[in-house]
Amino acid sequence: MTTAVTPQSYYGPHFGALLQQDPQIAELLVSELDRQRAGLQLIASENQTSPAVLAALGSTLSNKYAEGYPHARYYGGCSEVDKVEDLAIARAKELFGADHANVQPHSGASANQAVYGAFTAPGDTILAMSLDHGGHLTHGFKVSFSGKWFNAVHYGVTQDTEDIDYDQVEALAREHRPKMIVAGGSAVPRLIDFERFRAIADEVGAIFWVDAAHFIGLVAGKVIPSPVPYADVVSFTTHKVLRGPRGGAIVCKQEHAKKIDRAVFPMMQGGPLMHGVAGKAVNFAECMTPAYQAYARQVLDNAAALAAGLDRHGIRPITGGTDTHLSLHDLRGVGVTGVDAEARCDAAGIVLNKNAIPFDPEKPNVASGIRVGSPSVTTQGMGVEQMDAIADLMHRAITQTDGDPEHAVAREIRAEVTQLLQAYPAYPDPHAG
Ligand SMILES: *Cc1c(COP(=O)(O)O)cnc(C)c1O
Repeated sequence: MTTAVTPQSYYGPHFGALLQQDPQIAELLVSELDRQRAGLQLIASENQTSPAVLAALGSTLSNKYAEGYPHARYYGGCSEVDKVEDLAIARAKELFGADHANVQPHSGASANQAVYGAFTAPGDTILAMSLDHGGHLTHGFKVSFSGKWFNAVHYGVTQDTEDIDYDQVEALAREHRPKMIVAGGSAVPRLIDFERFRAIADEVGAIFWVDAAHFIGLVAGKVIPSPVPYADVVSFTTHKVLRGPRGGAIVCKQEHAKKIDRAVFPMMQGGPLMHGVAGKAVNFAECMTPAYQAYARQVLDNAAALAAGLDRHGIRPITGGTDTHLSLHDLRGVGVTGVDAEARCDAAGIVLNKNAIPFDPEKPNVASGIRVGSPSVTTQGMGVEQMDAIADLMHRAITQTDGDPEHAVAREIRAEVTQLLQAYPAYPDPHAG
């Protein structure tokens, strides 16, 4: 006997009540699921979390106030959520071999705020990767709290390797004596030399912080080196390659544990999102399985294959390739801007984002590049053969269409995307049966 898949399978036993009470929102939940299933999802920071994590997120743990930490709360009735958070913490420590874990940050940006709160005061100097070379808004960019409240000094990549300029990091650290040095970013395709960063931080007496938001899933899957032995503190998101619920977390050395906990609560946040904490616990357990490690390995192989496939079509990968789940591509070889490539791919059923490339002559809202990632399509079961097919589809969309969904070639590509997705669906069809 087979059970019919219904939206309820995804959105829990309460979906019927939602449908009855608020059909507008209920239908949007289903149409968003349809959207996720209908396109090729190549956004490097996205993934498709498991039904088990979705169940935790849709639970009554959302109702519970639990300010504080397990066994030291400001509210009664925390017996069950204490057990949930204890499990999430124990699993995070085991997964990453960390002394201490804080699983309460609401997001990556919230986790980063707590890192600043723990180690710096307004006006302090920090050293981080510049946004236009692959860093993140929260690393001292001027419109972010981090750029407004701190004196941010930025390093970048070298013109020839397009990889982190470690000599520049060292020179800037010696010159500015930052309180904190951060490694990590949102468009860094290569492995980071944590040992070199550690040595530079030690020389100038700085805290060494790794923002592993993007690549922590590859660390969890044991397919790239871990920053945990080197860094004072590692912040990350739980929803990117890691494939858990939307949220953040921090692991750190024991000596910093109290500082980090106080910075997350009460300095930056109020009550934790306990449904999210439960989702993180479920995800951390998933990440300790051989299946997840195989997934992480495939994410790497697929990213390398996609980067090489685009390279063959003249869409050059920055740094020449990738060691991670993402690659950044220079579109100038095919004479198309990032903004146009994003629109053309979108009209052809391929979802990705425009991205500035290092030393980009275009404004960020135009950009000369795109960023692509393999986490979602790998979750859907695709392998390197499908990456070659995707590179071909992308090249056609970028060079032979104009952003109009009715363009004949765009329609053709969409039909091929649909065919590919039939073999590798993101979640089963909720309308079947
Ligand atoms: C995604 C990301 C963040 C922010 O995560 P949010 O959950 O969107 O707040 C922070 N740092 C880096 C490097 C990221 O890639």
